[in-house]
Amino acid sequence: MDIIKLNGLSYASNTYVLISGADAAVVDPSANIDDIKKALGNAKLRYILLTHCHFDHILRLDSLRAETSAEVCIHRADADMMKDPDLNGSAFFGLDFASLGADRIIEDGEIIPLGKETIEVISTPGHTPGSVCYECGYDLICGDTLFSSGYGRYDLPGGDGNVLFASLKKLADRRDDPMIHPGHGASCALSDADIIRAIRYREL
Ligand SMILES: [Zn+2]
Ligand SMILES: [Zn+2]
Repeated sequence: MDIIKLNGLSYASNTYVLISGADAAVVDPSANIDDIKKALGNAKLRYILLTHCHFDHILRLDSLRAETSAEVCIHRADADMMKDPDLNGSAFFGLDFASLGADRIIEDGEIIPLGKETIEVISTPGHTPGSVCYECGYDLICGDTLFSSGYGRYDLPGGDGNVLFASLKKLADRRDDPMIHPGHGASCALSDADIIRAIRYREL
């Protein structure tokens, strides 16, 4: 699966375009629409996958959806939050942003086919109650759960530090070493992420 990373708009969240054969998915559409379309090329956009409900990851969601027949997918626990400025984080930054909502609810362990490959949904709550990672072969798109240096905040609506730590431990317990692609900042190997090293070697 080809993974193309695009820079988001003013809040610097990352958008990822996944391409497998003639099919594509976009994770967290916050980048410029023209940049997303350019990355898609001739591939057919099947899904818009959301790692969580926060406004900085869905800024271009409704305009991208309006131009395609792609299914918008989000975990149940974040599905209503994306429609509410108080719950999607925008009110916290003095904005009044709301999305129309999702088309399809996804659950932990769900397998989403794309081209001849698959994407697996891994539930990692804590940053928000419905935060998920998307596993695509050796790549893990992890939203705001895990960054190369640090992890997502848990003081916004629905956030929970203990739950987030349990999710980070679940990732730290993995035996493989996927490339992580966070919602903000640089990608790196899972084993090189600061908090994963801290959990593994310092037994936090
Ligand atoms: Zn977030
Ligand atoms: Zn974010």
